[in-house]
Amino acid sequence: MLLRHTPKEVLERTSLAINPAKTCQPIGAMYAAFGIHNCLPHSHGSQGCCAYHRSTLTRHFKEPVMASTSSFTEGTSVFGGQANLLQAIQTVFATYNPDVIAVHTTCLSETIGDDLGQIIAKARTDGKIPEGKHVFHASTPSYVGSHVVGFSNMVAAMANYFAESTKQTKKQINLLPGWVEPSDMRAIKSIAATLGVKLAMFPDTSNVMDQPLTGVHEFYPKGGATLDTLRSAGDSMATIALGPSASEAGAKALEKKFDVESSVLELPIGLQATDRFIDTLRTIADVKVPDSITDERGRLLDMMSDMHQYVSGKRVALFGDPDQLVSLSEFLVCLGMKPTYVVTGTPAVDFDSRMETVLGDQASQAKVKRGQGADMYLMHQWMKNDPVDLLIGNTYGKYIARDENIPFVRHGFPILDRVGHSYFPTVGYAGAMRLLEKMLSGIMDKQDREAPEESFELVM
Ligand code: SF4
Repeated sequence: MLLRHTPKEVLERTSLAINPAKTCQPIGAMYAAFGIHNCLPHSHGSQGCCAYHRSTLTRHFKEPVMASTSSFTEGTSVFGGQANLLQAIQTVFATYNPDVIAVHTTCLSETIGDDLGQIIAKARTDGKIPEGKHVFHASTPSYVGSHVVGFSNMVAAMANYFAESTKQTKKQINLLPGWVEPSDMRAIKSIAATLGVKLAMFPDTSNVMDQPLTGVHEFYPKGGATLDTLRSAGDSMATIALGPSASEAGAKALEKKFDVESSVLELPIGLQATDRFIDTLRTIADVKVPDSITDERGRLLDMMSDMHQYVSGKRVALFGDPDQLVSLSEFLVCLGMKPTYVVTGTPAVDFDSRMETVLGDQASQAKVKRGQGADMYLMHQWMKNDPVDLLIGNTYGKYIARDENIPFVRHGFPILDRVGHSYFPTVGYAGAMRLLEKMLSGIMDKQDREAPEESFELVM
């Protein structure tokens, strides 16, 4: 009973979040920056922020996370961080030799009002950025938005800074994968390769945040979108942005600057969202869907129909990031389950309408809340008043799951107490099978654990 003080009675709160379902903007910006090859993220703020962001990413991915910081002190807080950033740029290139420094701001530098564009321009004029090297930035004030907004801002900054147009359209599609695991990014590339579609994908954290252990430490792993890939984005025939909250801004930047038409889709999690993703790739690239993909879809359908009896009608509480929640909810509805409480701390303005679309007839029975006041405490109170059969969310949900004795499927960010998320995708048909297997295992394990002896079954 770790959360024994959570009362059933729900009181209106206007300026207090308890266990918010989000974390801070720069974490997202830092994660996105690792999706560029030979890139060192730089935190323009105090050391504490950078240490927190690095440690959260390290704990989630179980990988060393390198990032530099402007190391603000009391003096910097008063006089601004220009001198620190200029010095940092010079030191980082001299010591760590990245191709790119991706700078993001923090609450402090935003409050001071440091003009990053001007400081970086000065660094270039002063000769602190070597020939052929790059420094760009995203503004990520953490007193608004969430880690998803920080990710989105950094992706849009990549599109704005790197993409070029030669006016020669390339037979390739820009793919902005959204905030997903490195395993998901690898799976997205694999689906496109199976269809015979060439992608310019960024960011790409596969082979960066899930590096193979070779015995040799690589400061810059072999993965990440190359500069050539990023530059070529202005010449692609179209952009597919997966997850509106994380990817739409980047896609719109490319559309505005280079007229590269974009399709913004929900993350390809579950049957229908994966169908739409594959169909969009197929249509834009004018290719045929090979049997291997159709067969994989068929295996998912088979599993769904075989196991329908165990999941049908089950009530589910979900919390986390908007893009994940919309697609997960659609998959749950497709399985005959009932997304009952859906909570995100990210203030995505279109979240309610997207949820209504995927919930369909079930929309009136579900409680959906986003942004300010949408926290795990509130979701827990709802659960105490009207329980659910399953909880889906990041590691922080384990306290609620334990208190309420309900199965818990870890999904989203951060996952600090389990492994697997960086290695096994949840996107695509195979990913949907993995998700279904995890939900089934949770539900059936509880059934086994609590069944009276006379109805404890070998075959279920
Ligand atoms: S919320 Fe602001 S001050 Fe706190 S760690 Fe994030 S950026 Fe730093």
